[in-house]
Formats: sequence, C-alpha cells, structure tokens
Amino acid sequence: MGQPNKEYTKRVVIAANRLPIRVEKNEGQLEVAPAAGGVATGLSAFHRYKKSLWVGWPGTEPADTKEKTEIEELLSRDYNCLPVFLNAHELDKYYYGFSNRALWPLFHYFPHYSSYNALDWETYQQVNQKFCRKLLEVLHQDDLVWIHDYQLLLLPEMLRQEMPSATIGFFLHIPFPSMEIFRCLPWRAEILQGMLGADLIGFHTYDYTRHFFSSVLRILGKEQIYGKINLGNRMVKIDTFPMGIDSERYSGAVETPPVKKERALLRQELPVEKIILSVDRLDISKGILERLMAFERFLDKHPEWHERITYVLLCVPSRTEIREYRQLKSEIEELVGKINGRFEIPGWLPVLYMFRSLSFEKLVALYSEADLALVTPIRDGMNLVAKEYLACQSRAGKGVLVLSETAGSAAELGESIIVNPNNIDSITGAIVEGLSIPEEEKKAAIDNMFERIRKYNVYRWAEDFMANLEQAQELRDTSRKFFLKGESRAKLQAEYQQASNRLLLLDYDGTLVSLQKRPGQVRPDREVLQILSLLNADPKNKVVLISGRDRNYLSGWLSETGVDMVAEHGTWIYKSAQGKWSLLERGLSDDWKASVYPMLETFTDRTPGSLIEEKSYALAWHYRQAVPELGELRAKELVDMLRSILTGTDLQVLLGNKVVEIKPAVISKGKASHCWLEKVDSRDFILAVGDDWTDEDMFEVLPQNAWKIKVGFSSYTGARWFLESPGDVTGLLKSLAAR
Ligand code: UDP
Repeated sequence: MGQPNKEYTKRVVIAANRLPIRVEKNEGQLEVAPAAGGVATGLSAFHRYKKSLWVGWPGTEPADTKEKTEIEELLSRDYNCLPVFLNAHELDKYYYGFSNRALWPLFHYFPHYSSYNALDWETYQQVNQKFCRKLLEVLHQDDLVWIHDYQLLLLPEMLRQEMPSATIGFFLHIPFPSMEIFRCLPWRAEILQGMLGADLIGFHTYDYTRHFFSSVLRILGKEQIYGKINLGNRMVKIDTFPMGIDSERYSGAVETPPVKKERALLRQELPVEKIILSVDRLDISKGILERLMAFERFLDKHPEWHERITYVLLCVPSRTEIREYRQLKSEIEELVGKINGRFEIPGWLPVLYMFRSLSFEKLVALYSEADLALVTPIRDGMNLVAKEYLACQSRAGKGVLVLSETAGSAAELGESIIVNPNNIDSITGAIVEGLSIPEEEKKAAIDNMFERIRKYNVYRWAEDFMANLEQAQELRDTSRKFFLKGESRAKLQAEYQQASNRLLLLDYDGTLVSLQKRPGQVRPDREVLQILSLLNADPKNKVVLISGRDRNYLSGWLSETGVDMVAEHGTWIYKSAQGKWSLLERGLSDDWKASVYPMLETFTDRTPGSLIEEKSYALAWHYRQAVPELGELRAKELVDMLRSILTGTDLQVLLGNKVVEIKPAVISKGKASHCWLEKVDSRDFILAVGDDWTDEDMFEVLPQNAWKIKVGFSSYTGARWFLESPGDVTGLLKSLAAR
C-alpha cells in the first residue's frame, strides 16, 4: 500500500454524502460492502490510513431504534464512521432530486437535463442542515473539517454560522462549470455563499478554479486577489488539487495470486488477441453510447480485427431511480445487442457487457489485461479509472489509454491519446492508432504518466490539501487578532475617554457608507449624520471628513454636522470655523482636462456601464457598473495610455477601487491630514479610518501611536487594525460618541 509522507496531529473529520461503505440487510443480517464511485474509493485510502472520522449516509434506513444503534455501533467500532440516516423522502428530494437532477447535469454541461424544483431545493437545504447538526455533535475546536462534493455545497457556511472558528475545507469532485452555465441555477448566489463558508476550496483542475472565480465575481461581485477571495472579515483560499489514487495498491496487486487467478479466468472466457476496456458508473456524463458507436464503426471499417478483439464494457449500477439513467441503460443494452447481433459469430463475442460492480481483484485483472482503455466521458471532474488503469499497466507497460479532453485527468495525462468524446470518428481513429503503437512507445508513455500518478498519489493530494487548509486557518487566526474587537476595542475606548485633544480622520465612501454603483447614490443616513454631529459637538474632538469626493457633494450632505472636510483627496479643505472651502495648493490648473476628457469619453462609449465624474481639479472614470472583466481590462488600457501621455506633467494617474482618477500629483490625503497635525504633539488621541488605497497616504503620515483602522481585511496596508464593514465603523463611532 502507498505510504503517505506526513503525520498530522489534528483530527480530520470528513463529511461526504456517502460513507466509504454501504450497509445492507440480508435476511435480517447487517452486511457491509465498499461503496462505488471516485470519492468513496479514492478518499477511503486516506481515511483508513489517517483514522479520520467520516460522517455520511450509510446507504440504508434502519427499521427501528434498535437497528439504528446496531448500525451506529458497527460503523463506529470497525470503520470510524458516523452515519447520517436519510429517509426515503429526503433521499428522493435531496439526493436524486436536487443533487442529481439539478446540480449534476448542470455542472457536467447538460443544462437541458437539469430540472429545478423548489421542494427539492428546500430538502437539499434541510439535509445539509442535518449534516451540520451531526457534525456539531462530534466536532472539537481544533479538528480539521473536510467537506466533499456537490451534495453538500451549503454545509460549509451552515457550519461556519454555528462554529465561526472551525477550520473548514471543501473539495468539489465534479467540474465547476463556466459562469454562463452556472448562472442558469435559480439558487446560484446561495450555492456560492454556502461554499464560501470554507477556509479553503479545492478543485481538480485550474479551469474549474477559474470558472469559480468568474462566477463569484459576476454573481456576488467579489474579486479574487492572488487566489483568495476577501469577505471583509476573512479570506477564502481557492486552489487546484488534482486528486490522485492509491497507486501502489493497484500496481502492487497485479502479480498477486488472486489477481493472477482472475486473469487466467478472464483469458479463458475471452480467447482473443486484444481486449478493449471501459469502466464507468452507468451515467449520462460518461459518453458510453458514443463510445459504443465508435467501436461499431471500428468493426465496420476494420474487418481484419473481427474475431481478434473484444470490447469489455463494464457499467457499474448508479442512480437507477432516475428516469434518464434507466433510459440510458436500455439504450446501451439495445446498442450492445445490435452490435453483437451484427458481428457475432460462434466463438467470438464483439462486446462483453456487464452491468454490475466487480471485486477489486477482478477489476485489477481486467485493468492489467486490457490492451486499450477507452476513457471517453463527455465531461468528468477528474476520472480515477484512467489513473487506476495506468497503475495496473505500470509493470507490463503494454496498454494504451484513450482519454477525453473533457476529463479532468487529461490535464495530467498528456501522453495518452486525447480525443473529443463527441467526435465518434476521433474515438474510432484513436482505437486504430492505439492498436498500432510500437511496444517501446507505449511503455515510455505509461512510464511517464505512472511516474506522475505515483508521485502525486491520493495521500500527497490529501496532504497537500490539509497543509493548505492549516495555512488558511493560521492566516485567519492571525488576521483575526487584528480585528478591532474585545480587548483592543476596549483599549481604544479607554484611550479616547482619557484624551482631551482628539483628532478623528474619517474617510467617507466605503468607510462611513457602503459603496454603491453610482457615486450620487451614497447619501449618509440619519444615524451617520447624528453620530458625526454628536462627536463634533464634543469640544475635545476635531472631526475631519477626508474624502476623494467633489466638495459640492460633501457640503450638501455633511455641512449640517459641523465637521471639517477635505474634498478631492486634499485639493480642497473646509474648516468649519471659517465656514468656507479653500484650496490647499496655490496655482493648480485644470487646463489639462480639455485634452483628457475626450479620451475618457471614448472609453465610456466602449465600456457600457462606465461614467465620468468631473471634479474641479480632477477627473474620475468609474466602472463599477461595467461587466467586471471588461472594466478591469479597459481600466488598465486607460491607465497605460494616460501614463504615457502624462509623463513629465504634474498630474498623477491612479487605478483605484473601480475607478481611474487623474489628479494633481502634489495632492494627497496625507498632505491634507497635515493641516490638522501641525500641533501633532498636542493631539493625545488620533483615530484614522479608511478603506482604500488613497487612505494609505493618510495612514503613512500619522504617528505610530495613532489608531489606524482599515475597513475590510487586507495584507497590504499601513493600518494596524481592521473593521469588517461601514456598519462596524459607525458602531465604533457611536460607542465613542456616547462616552
Ligand atoms: N469502481 C468500483 N466498482 C467497480 C468498478 C469501478 O467501485 O466495479 C470504482 C473505480 O475503481 C473508480 C471509481 O469506481 O475508483 C470510479 O471513479 P471515477 O472518478 O472514474 O468516476 P465517478 O464514478 O466518480 O464519476
């Protein structure tokens, strides 16, 4: 058996729809059998080694409480498993319904097979809750929770709500489809939010990861930075981890006596020169009909192979309750019958069809004896069969793998013959090509691919995921220390109370009020105005609103509070004692606007949703309402163009949060802050709060002991503390105003 390289001290708790074993009742006796499918077979190697706790459905419904206890005891004692029992209704709606009639076809790019039913969705939520409650019964604070697959997409966030400090990883074993497909789902935002409850989300391939990012961006409006999504109060890391297999378990079994015996039996049954093999769950995504058609075409075109080759088609029963699956089964059987009817002669069976699950020994015998494996799913998250076949071929090295470009494993197995599974001729061609590859070439291809499979086996995969999960959790713990809560908040409040000459520098957009699509929509509400007025009324306070906005907005909205104000990042300052705006710098010019404005207009015409804001000495091009990727692209283009044109002038071009701004270079919030810092030593309490890059200039000029607070977590800031949202900022200010 393959040996993992790392020992964890923390307990791993796996949550997956199915347990790795199925409990069955046979004449009143409880029996267990291994569960089929990639997640169960792949992950159970790790589970056995790691002695993790696995929470999931045992495949049976107990008749009474006595039987329930019996099953629980058996699973806990012998398998480290904790069952979540599902009744027939739940199974029908949550598993067959929402998971397999809505999510599975949609995520595999069969939207026309997807049906969306509100009751299925409701039950899906209830069953995810049921899993959540079961986990809460057994979870300890320092466990690593690892949730698996599309049946439990809501569980990470449900668990996060109940246990905010839990360390939660989530892995999706099926493809994550492109945003265009994913957005068909009526409950797409809920699904994304459910997943984002995790600290780490893993996918098999980079394409799935990329699709997830674009869905989160378009549907939730959240951007990724260096593979992390910032939720304000924590980061979620997203990464690619191609799942491996327990390669040595397969390669090591090939020459064992039971497998040799099975191989001999197989050879007796199939006295042909070559064997073609395919192994799949009988599923709509596996391309079984297309593959059969390709084999039929091969027999049509190549009579020289008649009587010399047999195609062993192993279909493992799956989801037989779903109508489309039953229909597919009859279509497959019909086509097998047709092919055999057309070509069969005494002593030769062209297609050997089996609809059942095989023992490990029989499966390894088949894998090791087959000359060519046809792994041609229409879509497949990863496909472990391809890897298992290669592992069983690693010693003899005589086999050929034909693999779909749309299987996740194609990203790693480039030496196989890659086909488009919808192109029947391409599969037929691959069979012909595969049968004629010289022995040394076959061996070289298998050696290369097996080396990769051996190195990144299922243990390495799990270990890699766990190491990343631990890192994500450490980052969360570290960042949490800097959120202004509990002790630190009390310290700030105490310092405030003791101080007699305080300065409060407050940014406006994104700090006191949430960002909106249009700049004009961000009016302060009554509460914000009241808090500012109250703070300002305290003679010990100097409150300054320090904003990038135009002075007319600020005057119109905020002058009633009596606070001092800074407009256009420091171009204008307003001291309430003087009651008027004045320019901070003399000699500023706005002549340049006439040449820059038309350029911004061209970009606005080419970028629907963008708009120009004209300030007295600055121009801003906002693209918050544009299609995000297009907005970013155009903004970069615009910045490039402006920088090349404006080099050597005294203007500065800034790429901010959904805005490109052109302003005099001498102006900054830092410089403006100095107007209230002349007597810096006399200020015995300084508080500065901001949310974006322009506020960094302000943080930079403030003394060490100032309370510098950023709204939303970020690794790149001069602030020392964080608050989650504008709501938290007003909460803090309110508490100060009440002192
Ligand atoms: N398998 C099985 N019983 C069988 C034949 C195959 O359990 O009779 C296993 C096979 O070894 C593989 C898994 O089913 O590990 C199929 O995983 P794959 O990733 O290829 O597809 P999935 O079923 O997850 O869609």
